[in-house]
Amino acid sequence: MSLLGAHVSSAGGLPRALERAVALGCETFQIFTHNPLQWHGVSPAPSAVDEFRRALIESGIKRAAAHASYLVNLAGEGTILNKSIDAVIYDIELCFQIGIDSLVVHPGSSKDGPRAEALTRLAASLDRVLARTRDKNVTILLETMSGQGGMLGAANEELEGVFDALAWDRRLGICADICHVFGAGADVRTEGGYARFVAALDKHFGLDRIGCWHLSDNKGTLGSGVDRHQHIGEGEIGVIPFGMLVSDDRFADTPMILETPKDGIGDEGNLAILRKLRGSEKNK
Ligand SMILES: [Zn+2]
Ligand SMILES: [Zn+2]
Repeated sequence: MSLLGAHVSSAGGLPRALERAVALGCETFQIFTHNPLQWHGVSPAPSAVDEFRRALIESGIKRAAAHASYLVNLAGEGTILNKSIDAVIYDIELCFQIGIDSLVVHPGSSKDGPRAEALTRLAASLDRVLARTRDKNVTILLETMSGQGGMLGAANEELEGVFDALAWDRRLGICADICHVFGAGADVRTEGGYARFVAALDKHFGLDRIGCWHLSDNKGTLGSGVDRHQHIGEGEIGVIPFGMLVSDDRFADTPMILETPKDGIGDEGNLAILRKLRGSEKNK
């Protein structure tokens, strides 16, 4: 049975994020380690690190993710590239310290340059990050994107090529974002469409590489390249694919994390919808 949770705010410090997740009844969750519009946060005090790690164990939540800064572009150049590598290494080290097993990273952007060169830079950056964090058991999950502009990672082939270049390092995986893949053109709204989408993930990566799902509806239409996150069932995707996903035994141990807006029914309401679709209040 699926692990359901939400992205929770880290305002007030990391331990507060965990309290929010527990209060929502999350079986998994995602955080930003700091403001995602900044390169670096203030490193948490050792006491906060200890408190978080201990509380995470006590909570019984076995799998959680952090999401890297939005500024990170591992396919970038010059200063941006160096800052991106440092920021991802910082996050991996912090995840390791606080007991979080995966870090979600956007594949980055080619800006106006050639995509092939940007993908080569992405692979080279990841190679450096992996080498410098070899002793940290944290998986880097490249997120599937909607493909606006020079955004990399809307096509499975692009990310598969990056995995190939890195010899399928065991610390690489995929975060499949339903809102983004729909924006990129995957019609998951029917049983057949969902089956084809999952089969494609299996073909390109193997389902054991799917380390996390991001769940939100999309205000944008199929293939529009738009990823405007919306409450479950209130966008162009509708509830059906979410029902198929949360009851798909192949992803029983894979975190499924809400990235829906915080207004309106909020995380509580969206989690209630997912639990109903799953047919069970609790993960057993
Ligand atoms: Zn993301
Ligand atoms: Zn996402």
